Amino acid sequence: MADIKETFFNTVAPLDFGYNYRVGSYLQRYIDALKEKKIVGAKCPQCGSVVVPPRKYCGSCNEVREEFVELLTEGTLENFTIGHVTIDKGQVNKAESPYILGLIKLGGADNLLLGKVEGVPAGDVKTGMKLKAAWRDQTEGDYSDLDHFEPV
Ligand SMILES: [Zn+2]
Repeated sequence: MADIKETFFNTVAPLDFGYNYRVGSYLQRYIDALKEKKIVGAKCPQCGSVVVPPRKYCGSCNEVREEFVELLTEGTLENFTIGHVTIDKGQVNKAESPYILGLIKLGGADNLLLGKVEGVPAGDVKTGMKLKAAWRDQTEGDYSDLDHFEPV
């Protein structure tokens, strides 16, 4: 059998394509509440756990969560990280200034909600801080209506 010469080209093609997907009825309730400057979770009928954003099935007992409950818009910073870079379409860029991403335990919820933390210097942020939701001036029924959390 003759040797077959194969040549491969290696190219990098940055992909940039947007798409829309349906968020489903549970996340739609969450987003609708954000427009009213409220935060809702879903409660499990068996174990009573409340998760935010709402999820249909309970991860502990696999029951369907049917009840939506309004949570407090204040909570406690349970953990955080300080970001120094941003990623935009695959490009890593130095952030203009350090920023804080926090995991916040809202009053009435049993899990942690990820959110930006502002109003405190990155060097001064501490777990256990009491935070409150800060809303976009004009809410539009979008995830970004809940702009960030800030000290109470
Ligand atoms: Zn459950």
